[in-house]
Amino acid sequence: METFVYNGLPTRVIFGSGTAARLRAEIERTPCRRAFVVGTREQAASVDAVAASLGPIAVDTFAGAAMHTPTDVTQSALERFKECGADCTVAVGGGSAVGLGKAIALRTDAMQFVLPTTYAGSEMTPILGETENGVKTTQRSPKVQPEVAIYDVDLTLTLPAKLSTTSGMNAIAHAVEALYAEDRNPIISVMAEQAITALGRALPVIVANPQDRPARSDALYGAWLCGMCLGSVGMALHHKLCHVLGGSFDLPHAETHTVVLPHAFAYNAAAAPAAEQVLRRALGGNDGARALFDLAGALKAPTSLRSLGMPEDGIDHAADLAVKNPYWNPRPLERQAIRDLIAGAWAGEPPV
Ligand code: NAD
Repeated sequence: METFVYNGLPTRVIFGSGTAARLRAEIERTPCRRAFVVGTREQAASVDAVAASLGPIAVDTFAGAAMHTPTDVTQSALERFKECGADCTVAVGGGSAVGLGKAIALRTDAMQFVLPTTYAGSEMTPILGETENGVKTTQRSPKVQPEVAIYDVDLTLTLPAKLSTTSGMNAIAHAVEALYAEDRNPIISVMAEQAITALGRALPVIVANPQDRPARSDALYGAWLCGMCLGSVGMALHHKLCHVLGGSFDLPHAETHTVVLPHAFAYNAAAAPAAEQVLRRALGGNDGARALFDLAGALKAPTSLRSLGMPEDGIDHAADLAVKNPYWNPRPLERQAIRDLIAGAWAGEPPV
Protein backbone atom coordinates (compact mmCIF):
# COMPACT_ATOMS: atom_id res chain seq x y z
CA MET A 1 0.00 0.00 0.00
CA GLU A 2 1.27 3.47 -0.93
CA THR A 3 1.61 6.15 1.73
CA PHE A 4 -1.51 8.34 1.71
CA VAL A 5 -3.46 11.04 3.53
CA TYR A 6 -7.24 10.79 3.92
CA ASN A 7 -9.34 13.69 5.24
CA GLY A 8 -13.00 12.78 5.88
CA LEU A 9 -15.58 15.38 4.84
CA PRO A 10 -17.83 16.52 7.70
CA THR A 11 -21.18 16.72 5.83
CA ARG A 12 -23.95 14.58 7.36
CA VAL A 13 -25.75 12.61 4.63
CA ILE A 14 -29.29 11.26 4.58
CA PHE A 15 -30.07 9.16 1.51
CA GLY A 16 -33.24 7.48 0.26
CA SER A 17 -36.72 7.93 -1.13
CA GLY A 18 -38.97 10.44 0.64
CA THR A 19 -36.11 11.70 2.80
CA ALA A 20 -36.97 15.38 2.11
CA ALA A 21 -39.68 14.92 4.74
CA ARG A 22 -36.89 14.70 7.32
CA LEU A 23 -35.62 18.21 6.63
CA ARG A 24 -37.46 19.88 9.51
CA ALA A 25 -36.25 17.27 11.99
CA GLU A 26 -32.71 17.67 10.65
CA ILE A 27 -32.85 21.44 11.21
CA GLU A 28 -34.28 20.90 14.69
CA ARG A 29 -31.32 18.65 15.58
CA THR A 30 -29.25 21.85 15.37
CA PRO A 31 -29.69 25.23 17.11
CA CYS A 32 -31.18 26.67 13.87
CA ARG A 33 -34.86 27.69 13.84
CA ARG A 34 -35.14 30.22 10.97
CA ALA A 35 -34.55 28.83 7.49
CA PHE A 36 -34.04 30.81 4.27
CA VAL A 37 -34.97 28.53 1.34
CA VAL A 38 -33.23 29.13 -2.01
CA GLY A 39 -33.39 27.71 -5.54
CA THR A 40 -33.62 28.73 -9.19
CA ARG A 41 -36.59 30.47 -10.80
CA GLU A 42 -37.31 27.26 -12.76
CA GLN A 43 -37.62 25.37 -9.48
CA ALA A 44 -39.68 28.03 -7.65
CA ALA A 45 -42.44 25.47 -7.06
CA SER A 46 -39.97 23.12 -5.34
CA VAL A 47 -38.67 26.01 -3.22
CA ASP A 48 -42.23 26.81 -2.13
CA ALA A 49 -43.03 23.15 -1.45
CA VAL A 50 -39.93 22.75 0.73
CA ALA A 51 -40.73 25.99 2.59
CA ALA A 52 -44.31 24.79 3.16
CA SER A 53 -43.01 21.49 4.58
CA LEU A 54 -41.02 23.46 7.17
CA GLY A 55 -44.03 25.45 8.46
CA PRO A 56 -43.01 28.40 10.64
CA ILE A 57 -39.33 27.39 10.48
CA ALA A 58 -39.17 28.76 6.90
CA VAL A 59 -38.91 32.55 7.27
CA ASP A 60 -38.40 33.53 3.61
CA THR A 61 -37.67 32.12 0.15
CA PHE A 62 -35.52 33.27 -2.77
CA ALA A 63 -36.02 31.62 -6.16
CA GLY A 64 -33.38 33.55 -8.13
CA ALA A 65 -30.24 31.38 -8.00
CA ALA A 66 -28.29 31.33 -11.27
CA MET A 67 -25.47 29.35 -12.91
CA HIS A 68 -21.91 30.23 -11.75
CA THR A 69 -23.17 32.15 -8.67
CA PRO A 70 -23.19 35.79 -9.87
CA THR A 71 -22.29 38.09 -6.96
CA ASP A 72 -25.14 40.54 -7.71
CA VAL A 73 -27.65 37.73 -7.18
CA THR A 74 -25.86 36.81 -3.95
CA GLN A 75 -26.10 40.44 -2.74
CA SER A 76 -29.88 40.51 -3.34
CA ALA A 77 -30.33 37.18 -1.57
CA LEU A 78 -28.08 38.26 1.29
CA GLU A 79 -30.18 41.36 1.93
CA ARG A 80 -33.30 39.20 2.16
CA PHE A 81 -31.47 36.68 4.37
CA LYS A 82 -30.57 39.45 6.81
CA GLU A 83 -33.95 41.20 6.69
CA CYS A 84 -35.82 38.05 7.71
CA GLY A 85 -33.36 37.21 10.50
CA ALA A 86 -32.59 33.75 9.10
CA ASP A 87 -30.01 31.56 10.84
CA CYS A 88 -29.54 28.89 8.14
CA THR A 89 -30.01 28.27 4.42
CA VAL A 90 -31.86 25.45 2.72
CA ALA A 91 -30.85 25.00 -0.93
CA VAL A 92 -33.10 22.88 -3.13
CA GLY A 93 -31.80 22.22 -6.63
CA GLY A 94 -28.58 21.64 -8.55
CA GLY A 95 -25.20 23.33 -8.41
CA SER A 96 -26.73 26.79 -8.98
CA ALA A 97 -28.97 26.60 -5.90
CA VAL A 98 -26.22 25.01 -3.79
CA GLY A 99 -23.78 27.72 -4.96
CA LEU A 100 -26.08 30.47 -3.69
CA GLY A 101 -26.44 28.74 -0.31
CA LYS A 102 -22.64 28.48 -0.12
CA ALA A 103 -22.15 32.14 -1.08
CA ILE A 104 -24.49 33.20 1.75
CA ALA A 105 -22.72 30.87 4.19
CA LEU A 106 -19.34 32.31 3.17
CA ARG A 107 -20.55 35.78 4.16
CA THR A 108 -22.57 34.89 7.27
CA ASP A 109 -21.28 31.54 8.61
CA ALA A 110 -24.88 30.29 8.42
CA MET A 111 -25.45 26.53 8.57
CA GLN A 112 -26.42 24.97 5.25
CA PHE A 113 -28.97 22.25 4.56
CA VAL A 114 -29.06 20.99 0.97
CA LEU A 115 -31.57 18.97 -1.04
CA PRO A 116 -29.67 18.13 -4.27
CA THR A 117 -31.80 17.54 -7.39
CA THR A 118 -29.04 17.05 -10.01
CA TYR A 119 -25.84 15.00 -10.06
CA ALA A 120 -23.39 17.95 -9.96
CA GLY A 121 -22.08 17.11 -6.46
CA SER A 122 -21.41 20.63 -5.17
CA GLU A 123 -23.12 19.81 -1.85
CA MET A 124 -20.17 17.59 -0.89
CA THR A 125 -17.41 20.12 -1.52
CA PRO A 126 -15.74 23.06 0.25
CA ILE A 127 -15.47 24.75 -3.18
CA LEU A 128 -17.30 27.87 -4.36
CA GLY A 129 -17.03 29.46 -7.81
CA GLU A 130 -18.41 33.00 -8.04
CA THR A 131 -18.80 35.30 -11.05
CA GLU A 132 -18.34 39.06 -10.93
CA ASN A 133 -18.40 41.18 -14.12
CA GLY A 134 -18.13 38.02 -16.18
CA VAL A 135 -14.99 36.78 -14.37
CA LYS A 136 -15.26 33.53 -12.41
CA THR A 137 -13.05 32.94 -9.39
CA THR A 138 -13.00 29.73 -7.40
CA GLN A 139 -12.06 29.31 -3.76
CA ARG A 140 -11.91 26.54 -1.16
CA SER A 141 -13.16 27.28 2.34
CA PRO A 142 -14.50 25.04 5.09
CA LYS A 143 -17.14 27.78 5.61
CA VAL A 144 -18.91 26.74 2.40
CA GLN A 145 -19.00 22.99 3.07
CA PRO A 146 -22.70 22.24 3.76
CA GLU A 147 -23.50 20.74 7.18
CA VAL A 148 -26.31 18.44 6.00
CA ALA A 149 -27.15 16.95 2.58
CA ILE A 150 -30.49 15.19 2.20
CA TYR A 151 -30.50 13.12 -0.97
CA ASP A 152 -34.12 12.37 -1.83
CA VAL A 153 -34.34 10.19 -4.94
CA ASP A 154 -37.92 11.40 -5.52
CA LEU A 155 -36.70 14.96 -6.16
CA THR A 156 -34.61 13.75 -9.10
CA LEU A 157 -37.49 12.08 -10.96
CA THR A 158 -38.36 15.40 -12.65
CA LEU A 159 -34.81 16.03 -13.92
CA PRO A 160 -35.26 15.79 -17.72
CA ALA A 161 -33.40 12.95 -19.46
CA LYS A 162 -31.16 15.40 -21.31
CA LEU A 163 -30.07 17.18 -18.13
CA SER A 164 -29.71 13.84 -16.31
CA THR A 165 -27.20 12.54 -18.83
CA THR A 166 -24.95 15.60 -18.95
CA SER A 167 -25.20 16.09 -15.19
CA GLY A 168 -24.32 12.40 -14.76
CA MET A 169 -21.31 12.69 -17.09
CA ASN A 170 -20.25 15.82 -15.19
CA ALA A 171 -20.33 13.71 -12.01
CA ILE A 172 -18.35 10.86 -13.62
CA ALA A 173 -15.65 13.41 -14.51
CA HIS A 174 -15.09 14.10 -10.79
CA ALA A 175 -14.59 10.38 -10.11
CA VAL A 176 -12.33 9.83 -13.13
CA GLU A 177 -9.95 12.63 -12.17
CA ALA A 178 -9.97 11.50 -8.52
CA LEU A 179 -8.45 8.19 -9.70
CA TYR A 180 -5.25 9.92 -10.87
CA ALA A 181 -5.24 12.93 -8.52
CA GLU A 182 -1.90 13.90 -7.01
CA ASP A 183 -3.42 13.36 -3.54
CA ARG A 184 -5.45 10.25 -4.51
CA ASN A 185 -6.00 7.68 -1.78
CA PRO A 186 -7.45 4.17 -1.63
CA ILE A 187 -10.73 5.22 0.06
CA ILE A 188 -11.56 7.80 -2.59
CA SER A 189 -10.49 5.42 -5.36
CA VAL A 190 -12.97 2.81 -4.07
CA MET A 191 -15.69 5.47 -4.04
CA ALA A 192 -14.73 6.59 -7.54
CA GLU A 193 -15.02 3.07 -8.97
CA GLN A 194 -18.39 2.49 -7.28
CA ALA A 195 -19.57 5.86 -8.55
CA ILE A 196 -18.61 5.27 -12.19
CA THR A 197 -20.10 1.78 -12.08
CA ALA A 198 -23.40 3.03 -10.60
CA LEU A 199 -23.76 5.96 -13.00
CA GLY A 200 -22.61 3.96 -16.03
CA ARG A 201 -25.32 1.40 -15.26
CA ALA A 202 -28.06 3.88 -14.36
CA LEU A 203 -27.83 6.63 -16.99
CA PRO A 204 -28.85 4.51 -20.03
CA VAL A 205 -31.88 3.26 -18.06
CA ILE A 206 -32.84 6.83 -17.10
CA VAL A 207 -32.66 7.98 -20.73
CA ALA A 208 -35.11 5.21 -21.65
CA ASN A 209 -37.35 5.90 -18.65
CA PRO A 210 -36.69 8.99 -16.48
CA GLN A 211 -39.15 7.64 -13.90
CA ASP A 212 -37.20 4.43 -13.21
CA ARG A 213 -36.71 4.65 -9.43
CA PRO A 214 -33.99 1.99 -8.98
CA ALA A 215 -31.93 3.67 -11.73
CA ARG A 216 -32.56 7.12 -10.22
CA SER A 217 -31.46 5.78 -6.86
CA ASP A 218 -28.27 4.27 -8.36
CA ALA A 219 -27.50 7.51 -10.19
CA LEU A 220 -27.99 9.71 -7.12
CA TYR A 221 -25.87 7.35 -5.02
CA GLY A 222 -23.16 7.54 -7.69
CA ALA A 223 -23.45 11.32 -7.80
CA TRP A 224 -23.00 11.54 -4.03
CA LEU A 225 -19.80 9.49 -4.29
CA CYS A 226 -18.61 11.66 -7.19
CA GLY A 227 -19.20 14.74 -5.03
CA MET A 228 -17.06 13.10 -2.31
CA CYS A 229 -14.30 12.61 -4.91
CA LEU A 230 -14.46 16.26 -6.01
CA GLY A 231 -14.50 17.55 -2.43
CA SER A 232 -11.69 15.31 -1.20
CA VAL A 233 -8.89 15.34 -3.77
CA GLY A 234 -7.51 17.71 -6.40
CA MET A 235 -8.64 17.69 -10.01
CA ALA A 236 -6.42 17.94 -13.12
CA LEU A 237 -6.38 18.60 -16.88
CA HIS A 238 -10.03 17.76 -17.54
CA HIS A 239 -11.42 20.21 -14.97
CA LYS A 240 -8.90 22.85 -16.02
CA LEU A 241 -9.96 22.54 -19.67
CA CYS A 242 -13.66 22.75 -18.81
CA HIS A 243 -13.03 25.84 -16.69
CA VAL A 244 -11.09 27.48 -19.53
CA LEU A 245 -13.62 26.53 -22.23
CA GLY A 246 -16.65 27.48 -20.15
CA GLY A 247 -15.13 30.83 -19.15
CA SER A 248 -13.72 31.77 -22.57
CA PHE A 249 -16.66 30.79 -24.77
CA ASP A 250 -19.57 30.81 -22.32
CA LEU A 251 -20.21 27.10 -22.92
CA PRO A 252 -22.76 25.22 -20.79
CA HIS A 253 -21.13 23.58 -17.73
CA ALA A 254 -22.33 19.95 -17.70
CA GLU A 255 -22.36 19.61 -21.51
CA THR A 256 -18.76 20.81 -21.75
CA HIS A 257 -17.70 18.18 -19.18
CA THR A 258 -19.54 15.54 -21.19
CA VAL A 259 -17.74 16.38 -24.43
CA VAL A 260 -14.25 16.89 -23.02
CA LEU A 261 -14.01 13.93 -20.60
CA PRO A 262 -13.20 11.11 -23.09
CA HIS A 263 -10.51 13.28 -24.74
CA ALA A 264 -8.93 14.45 -21.48
CA PHE A 265 -8.87 10.85 -20.22
CA ALA A 266 -7.29 9.64 -23.47
CA TYR A 267 -4.54 12.24 -22.97
CA ASN A 268 -3.81 10.88 -19.48
CA ALA A 269 -4.61 7.16 -19.82
CA ALA A 270 -1.07 5.87 -20.45
CA ALA A 271 0.22 7.87 -17.47
CA ALA A 272 -2.59 6.60 -15.21
CA PRO A 273 -2.77 2.80 -15.73
CA ALA A 274 -4.72 2.16 -12.51
CA ALA A 275 -7.43 4.60 -13.62
CA GLU A 276 -7.56 2.88 -17.02
CA GLN A 277 -8.14 -0.47 -15.29
CA VAL A 278 -10.94 1.00 -13.16
CA LEU A 279 -12.71 2.42 -16.22
CA ARG A 280 -12.52 -0.93 -18.01
CA ARG A 281 -14.01 -2.70 -14.99
CA ALA A 282 -16.68 -0.04 -14.42
CA LEU A 283 -17.80 0.56 -18.01
CA GLY A 284 -16.62 -2.56 -19.86
CA GLY A 285 -14.49 -2.79 -23.00
CA ASN A 286 -10.72 -2.54 -23.30
CA ASP A 287 -10.30 1.23 -23.74
CA GLY A 288 -11.41 3.58 -20.96
CA ALA A 289 -11.52 6.73 -23.09
CA ARG A 290 -13.51 4.99 -25.80
CA ALA A 291 -15.92 3.60 -23.17
CA LEU A 292 -16.59 7.17 -21.94
CA PHE A 293 -17.11 8.39 -25.52
CA ASP A 294 -19.44 5.50 -26.30
CA LEU A 295 -21.39 6.08 -23.09
CA ALA A 296 -21.99 9.73 -24.08
CA GLY A 297 -23.04 8.55 -27.54
CA ALA A 298 -25.42 5.92 -26.16
CA LEU A 299 -26.97 8.60 -23.95
CA LYS A 300 -27.42 10.85 -27.01
CA ALA A 301 -25.46 13.49 -25.12
CA PRO A 302 -23.42 16.10 -27.00
CA THR A 303 -20.05 14.82 -28.26
CA SER A 304 -18.58 17.94 -29.91
CA LEU A 305 -17.63 21.40 -28.68
CA ARG A 306 -18.73 22.72 -32.07
CA SER A 307 -22.32 21.69 -31.28
CA LEU A 308 -22.09 23.66 -28.01
CA GLY A 309 -21.21 26.85 -29.89
CA MET A 310 -17.43 27.01 -29.54
CA PRO A 311 -15.80 28.78 -32.53
CA GLU A 312 -13.08 26.79 -34.32
CA ASP A 313 -10.67 29.72 -34.12
CA GLY A 314 -10.86 29.51 -30.32
CA ILE A 315 -8.94 26.21 -30.19
CA ASP A 316 -5.48 27.81 -30.05
CA HIS A 317 -6.54 30.33 -27.42
CA ALA A 318 -7.94 27.53 -25.25
CA ALA A 319 -4.73 25.50 -25.63
CA ASP A 320 -2.66 28.54 -24.59
CA LEU A 321 -4.79 29.08 -21.48
CA ALA A 322 -4.73 25.38 -20.57
CA VAL A 323 -0.92 25.37 -20.28
CA LYS A 324 -0.47 28.94 -18.99
CA ASN A 325 -0.26 28.21 -15.26
CA PRO A 326 1.32 24.92 -14.18
CA TYR A 327 -0.86 22.45 -12.20
CA TRP A 328 -0.75 18.76 -11.35
CA ASN A 329 -1.54 16.30 -14.12
CA PRO A 330 -0.38 12.69 -14.41
CA ARG A 331 1.06 13.41 -17.87
CA PRO A 332 3.09 16.59 -18.35
CA LEU A 333 1.23 19.43 -20.07
CA GLU A 334 2.26 19.48 -23.73
CA ARG A 335 0.77 22.37 -25.66
CA GLN A 336 0.59 20.70 -29.07
CA ALA A 337 -0.95 17.48 -27.71
CA ILE A 338 -3.47 19.52 -25.72
CA ARG A 339 -4.30 21.54 -28.83
CA ASP A 340 -4.92 18.25 -30.69
CA LEU A 341 -7.10 17.05 -27.82
CA ILE A 342 -9.24 20.22 -27.97
CA ALA A 343 -9.44 20.04 -31.77
CA GLY A 344 -10.67 16.42 -31.56
CA ALA A 345 -13.27 17.39 -28.94
CA TRP A 346 -14.33 20.36 -31.07
CA ALA A 347 -14.92 18.14 -34.10
CA GLY A 348 -16.59 15.34 -32.10
CA GLU A 349 -14.08 12.71 -33.19
CA PRO A 350 -13.50 9.60 -31.08
CA PRO A 351 -10.69 10.14 -28.53
CA VAL A 352 -7.16 9.12 -29.51
P1 NAD B 1 -28.20 23.91 -12.31
O1 NAD B 1 -28.23 23.85 -10.84
O2 NAD B 1 -28.01 25.22 -12.96
O3 NAD B 1 -29.53 23.23 -12.86
C1 NAD B 1 -29.81 23.24 -14.26
C2 NAD B 1 -31.30 23.49 -14.49
O4 NAD B 1 -32.02 22.32 -14.12
C3 NAD B 1 -31.86 24.64 -13.64
O5 NAD B 1 -32.80 25.33 -14.40
C4 NAD B 1 -32.53 23.90 -12.50
O6 NAD B 1 -33.55 24.64 -11.92
C5 NAD B 1 -33.04 22.67 -13.21
N1 NAD B 1 -33.23 21.50 -12.33
C6 NAD B 1 -32.37 21.06 -11.40
N2 NAD B 1 -32.86 19.96 -10.83
C7 NAD B 1 -34.05 19.68 -11.40
C8 NAD B 1 -35.01 18.66 -11.23
N3 NAD B 1 -34.82 17.64 -10.38
N4 NAD B 1 -36.13 18.71 -11.98
C9 NAD B 1 -36.31 19.69 -12.90
N5 NAD B 1 -35.41 20.68 -13.12
C10 NAD B 1 -34.29 20.68 -12.36
O7 NAD B 1 -27.09 22.93 -12.94
P2 NAD B 1 -26.00 21.94 -12.28
O8 NAD B 1 -25.34 21.28 -13.43
O9 NAD B 1 -26.59 21.11 -11.20
O10 NAD B 1 -24.99 22.93 -11.57
C11 NAD B 1 -24.10 23.72 -12.32
C12 NAD B 1 -23.49 24.78 -11.44
O11 NAD B 1 -22.94 24.18 -10.29
C13 NAD B 1 -22.36 25.52 -12.12
O12 NAD B 1 -22.43 26.88 -11.75
C14 NAD B 1 -21.12 24.85 -11.57
O13 NAD B 1 -19.99 25.70 -11.61
C15 NAD B 1 -21.56 24.53 -10.18
N6 NAD B 1 -20.86 23.40 -9.55
C16 NAD B 1 -20.11 23.67 -8.45
C17 NAD B 1 -19.45 22.65 -7.81
C18 NAD B 1 -18.65 22.93 -6.57
O14 NAD B 1 -18.12 22.04 -5.96
N7 NAD B 1 -18.54 24.19 -6.17
C19 NAD B 1 -19.55 21.33 -8.28
C20 NAD B 1 -20.31 21.10 -9.42
C21 NAD B 1 -20.98 22.13 -10.04
